[in-house]
Amino acid sequence: MSPGGPELKAAAEIAVMERAGRIVWEILQALREAAVPGATTLELDTLAEKLIYEKGATPAFKGYRGFPGSVCISVNEEVVHGIPSERRALKEGDIVSLDFGVVVGGFYGDSAITVPVGQVSPEAQRLVDVTRQAMHDGIAQMAAGRRLHDIGHAVQERVERAGFSVVRDFVGHGIGRRLHEEPQLPNYGKAGTGMRLRPGLVLAIEPMVNAGAPDVEILQDEWTAVTRDGKLSAHFEHTVAILEDGPRILTLPPGIPPGREGLPQ
Ligand code: MG
Ligand code: MG
Repeated sequence: MSPGGPELKAAAEIAVMERAGRIVWEILQALREAAVPGATTLELDTLAEKLIYEKGATPAFKGYRGFPGSVCISVNEEVVHGIPSERRALKEGDIVSLDFGVVVGGFYGDSAITVPVGQVSPEAQRLVDVTRQAMHDGIAQMAAGRRLHDIGHAVQERVERAGFSVVRDFVGHGIGRRLHEEPQLPNYGKAGTGMRLRPGLVLAIEPMVNAGAPDVEILQDEWTAVTRDGKLSAHFEHTVAILEDGPRILTLPPGIPPGREGLPQ
């Protein structure tokens, strides 16, 4: 961490980040509708990229450390960082996580949803629902004066009470003029520990939740993270600003109630 701690954003900067967040949200809706049986993950990526440029934004992930796509698309046992491919067609019963970001006016927005493809098993649906709820439990802790690991603690409690596990190998992050800023935000931890949360801190909270064990491994493509036990994994993410009066989700437009991410709005 830099000597001064994480960068705090001014209201005008948060307003720009809200524009970025709105674009991410809008495009996630289009991707959710396009995630039907038979669609390839490359088709989804191509759609996202077209919409990103139409809206005057720039893809945040394309070329990031060499990532080839604009969206990380991770199906079933894939945890995160799946590479869009014309050879990967979605099929009925899959769950697919769609994770991406954009840059607008020099600032980043970053969000992810996991959506069912057609009809999915009750257990797959429960994993998706618990992951979404765990993210919101974490967001509820994002108030000035609380501690950083209050957030991960709340996420972990929800996940483990449901009999699932929190991925340790990847974490949330500060976000602003860079996609990944200080601090790192684990999805687990001890309540009452970590830095004090202050107004102006903007965090991307992104629980990755496995149906089985938390262990992951990276495929030979050097990107795709999968569960070691081959069981399902789900992922949700929001970019959230901590304000004087509590958290504001920048990747959810005003008037859209939280808790329905990845569902028809
Ligand atoms: Mg993301
Ligand atoms: Mg992120």
